[in-house]
Formats: sequence, structure tokens, C-alpha cells
Amino acid sequence: AEDRRHGISLLVVDTKSEGYAVGRKLDKLGLRISDTAELSFTDVKVPVEDLLGEENKGFSYLGQNLPQERLGIAVGAYAQAAAAVRFAQAYVQERTVFGKSVASFQNTKFELAACKAEVDAAEAVVDRALEAHDLGELSAAEAASAKLFTTEVAHRVIDKCLQLHGGYGYMNEYPIARLYADNRVNRIYGGTSEVMKMIIAKSMGL
Ligand SMILES: Cc1cc2nc3c(=O)[nH]c(=O)nc-3n(C[C@H](O)[C@H](O)[C@H](O)COP(=O)(O)OP(=O)(O)OC[C@H]3O[C@@H](n4cnc5c(N)ncnc54)[C@H](O)[C@@H]3O)c2cc1C
Repeated sequence: AEDRRHGISLLVVDTKSEGYAVGRKLDKLGLRISDTAELSFTDVKVPVEDLLGEENKGFSYLGQNLPQERLGIAVGAYAQAAAAVRFAQAYVQERTVFGKSVASFQNTKFELAACKAEVDAAEAVVDRALEAHDLGELSAAEAASAKLFTTEVAHRVIDKCLQLHGGYGYMNEYPIARLYADNRVNRIYGGTSEVMKMIIAKSMGL
């Protein structure tokens, strides 16, 4: 079979090169603090010495850092889920509805307790992956597993914590609303949850 990775190389492109252009800034749902824009390279000429590393090794260079990138996303997702629980915990104690604090409802206690258990599990997963990374032993499958688990936990937990805020949970002045929007991309970038499952399945010989 032909090697589909062949022909991919890393090039350093001077932004003053003819044919290089920054296109429109994309309007994102969340992570609005960072700009994401289209870049175009029309017939850009790159001098031979601006090849980064060896020719045809681009895919392998990019792949080498993927487990670390996914671990970074897992750590962030865990931290976002933990923050969501803290925000909701504070909010439900302060908000009263018809004379009762939202925290007094059994549903609130159960929802937050279940969220806390999920966050604790995510913390253990992140700690184990960090330890493996420290030893230089973080495998592609373990990194994928950590990213899949923690980002799916964060997605569920942040949604539940937003729900406990009622209408204020939908307002950007409350950090839970921004967390909801910012967290959404965690299940997409660095490789989607579906792609994480493919990596894990492959490591299981499936
Ligand atoms: C804000 C943001 C920042 C980003 N930053 C970077 C960056 O810095 N560097 C970088 O390289 N990339 C970056 N990306 C790109 C990101 O990694 C990709 O968007 C992501 O990997 C998904 O690829 P795609 O968009 O091509 O989706 P597609 O591959 O088109 O996927 C569409 C859907 O099909 C599913 N799918 C695809 N293949 C399969 C399959 N084989 N089996 C089952 N389902 C499948 C996907 O899971 C998804 O649900 C960024 C994206 C965003 C949104």
C-alpha cells in the first residue's frame, strides 16, 4: 500500500513572502479570547533552507506531540469541570426560590454530588496520565482515553451546573455561561471524541 504520510514536510514560511495572506477572522462560539483566522498560501516560494527537519517526516513530527497536546486538553477539561462545580456550589447556596435555598432541594444535592464524583474520577485519570507523561511513558491510547473521558465529563458536568443556575446560567456575566461555550471545543479539537475512540479501539486490537 502507498504510504499516505509520504510527501508531508514542515516548512517555515516568512510572513513577508509573496502570496501569503491572512484572511477573515472566524467568528467562534467560545474561546473568544484567541483569534482564529484563515491563512492562505498562493504559490508561495519557500527557500530550500526553510525546510524544518527532514523531508517527508512532517506527519511523524506532528504526531510525536499529540499525546502531550491531548493531555493538556484533558487537564484543562478537568479544571473547567472542577470550576463549574465550585461556581454551582456557591450559587445554589446564595439563590433562594420562594423562600427556600436552591441548595435545599434534594435534586440539587444529588446533581452536585454526582458531578463531584465525576470530577474526582477525572482528577484521578489526569493524575495517572501526568505521571506516565513525567516518566516519558504516556502512550497514544492512554492520552486518547484521558482526553475522551475528561472532556466528556466536563461536557456533562458543566451542563448540569449551568442548569442549576437557572436563567442566569445563560447570561455571559456568569462564568458558568462562558465555561459552557469555551468547553464545547474540547470534544472537537486535538482530535474529536470519535477519533479518540478509534485510537483506543485500535490499541485493543479492534
Ligand atoms: C477553535 C479551534 C482551534 C483549532 N486549533 C487547531 C490547531 O491549533 N492546530 C490544528 O492542527 N488543528 C486545530 N483545530 C482543528 C481541529 O483539530 C479539527 O477541527 C478536529 O480535529 C476535527 O477535524 P475536522 O474539523 O476536519 O472534522 P471532520 O474530520 O470533518 O469531522 C466531522 C465529524 O465526523 C466525525 N468523524 C471523522 N472521521 C471519523 C471516523 N473515521 N469515524 C467516525 N467519525 C468520524 C468527527 O468525529 C466529527 O464528528 C482547531 C479547531 C478549532 C475549532
